[in-house]
Amino acid sequence: MPNILISNDDGIFAPGLKQLATSMLALGKVWVVAPKDNQSASGHRKTMHRPLRANPIYNVFPPDIVAYAVDGAPSDCVAITLMGLIDEPMDIVVSGINSGPNLGQDVTYSGTVSVALEAAIFGLPAVAFSLSSRMIDADYGPSDSWLRQITAQTLQNGLPHHTILNVNIPPLPARELRGIQITRQGRRDYRDILDERIDPFGKPYYWIAGTEPGGDVEAEGTDIWAVNQGYVSVTPIHLDLTRHEFLSALQAWEW
Ligand code: MN
Repeated sequence: MPNILISNDDGIFAPGLKQLATSMLALGKVWVVAPKDNQSASGHRKTMHRPLRANPIYNVFPPDIVAYAVDGAPSDCVAITLMGLIDEPMDIVVSGINSGPNLGQDVTYSGTVSVALEAAIFGLPAVAFSLSSRMIDADYGPSDSWLRQITAQTLQNGLPHHTILNVNIPPLPARELRGIQITRQGRRDYRDILDERIDPFGKPYYWIAGTEPGGDVEAEGTDIWAVNQGYVSVTPIHLDLTRHEFLSALQAWEW
């Protein structure tokens, strides 16, 4: 039975985390180490200038699951676990299920994806799962068979060095999910606005606000297209951010 480590960025009490942990019990032994509160859009962080606390959590997950809440970032949860918080070798790390999509450039902000990237740095296969709905009462149930299938395939086949899978699931009833598409990252179109307000002492403060990001839903083969079409999108993501095609042109500048 494989040892499966689970984390997320929505926090230890998020319903998507409970669904993922419960689904993973069908595949192996499960540990949960997750942030104690919501760390969405915290990116890939390492807490180095203060201590980290990991408190055991009871009565949230099925009784076979050992769980900890950590006062750090999602990536901290993975790092401290793999460095010794839990004295067992993990076989895979799975993240999510995030409340909301992680498509296109979202992956650079995503705490959900950074859980998987941190695992890849430690040399483990990893999968990040997101449900493409931010509704508070979103139904994570239809994801169950996809979580198990994709994780089982990843355990069986392994992944290339420093590579993770970023999975986005449309918020549809099980019978309307059309299957898996292997995709590339699409292009997000953010609609953020800066909302300046005045505090009670007359000083301005700022909210980054705006509506849900869009993107090129017509670009076939992208994650954004696939989810829009009702497919479960599976994108391989590489830690190497080098723009290889640009290397020779950059070399040719007048250095
Ligand atoms: Mn989140």
